[in-house]
Amino acid sequence: MKLLVATRNEGKIREFRDLMAGLPFAVTFPADRLLERLPEEADIESGTSFVENAVAKARYFAKRSGLPALAEDSGLEVDALGGQPGVHSARFAGVYGEGSDAANNALLLERLAAVPEDRRAARYRCVVAYIETPAAKPQLVEATCDGRILTTPRGAGGFGYDPLFWSADLGMTFAEAPLPAKQRVSHRGRAVRALIEVLVRRST
Ligand code: IMP
Repeated sequence: MKLLVATRNEGKIREFRDLMAGLPFAVTFPADRLLERLPEEADIESGTSFVENAVAKARYFAKRSGLPALAEDSGLEVDALGGQPGVHSARFAGVYGEGSDAANNALLLERLAAVPEDRRAARYRCVVAYIETPAAKPQLVEATCDGRILTTPRGAGGFGYDPLFWSADLGMTFAEAPLPAKQRVSHRGRAVRALIEVLVRRST
């Protein structure tokens, strides 16, 4: 079964390739199918919830590719910021593309400057949506992972907020963790594995 994973984020692509290796799906990404980035894509993630955005991305790319599509929307929720940046995680600092991770992390540290260590609880949240055809009802799975935001970055792996996100499961930041460790406990690892289980059960 062919499956389009609807993301252009290099960090996510690395993780998806690993999470879906060895499964009975031929996984492909928009860039593999030469689906060029269109200006309209910027508007897909303008919803107010992870669910809305994940479903919109899955529908959009199912339509463009003619394939069943899997999309995810994810972000970081910081308790001391009332759940921000949340669905706005990718564009928190208003910077697009290159330099956005550094700008987002700098803004996060700035917003939390006066917040003591014991009040810096946070979690990553991920919603994965699978859609067989553009008009079909989506299958949804949601997962989280808990941690807190450090005052200085640690580690060089991962992407996005990983150098600042200290994982309660691993006792280190996601940027310090080897990929298999991050995948075992992360919001995306948990959500994607749960969805894969549903898809494999359905196809056998
Ligand atoms: P979107 O789902 O494309 O809107 O992007 C989600 C954004 O949330 C990313 O650009 C990152 O800033 C952040 N994010 C989501 N998952 C992770 C993760 O596993 N590590 C680091 N940052 C993440």
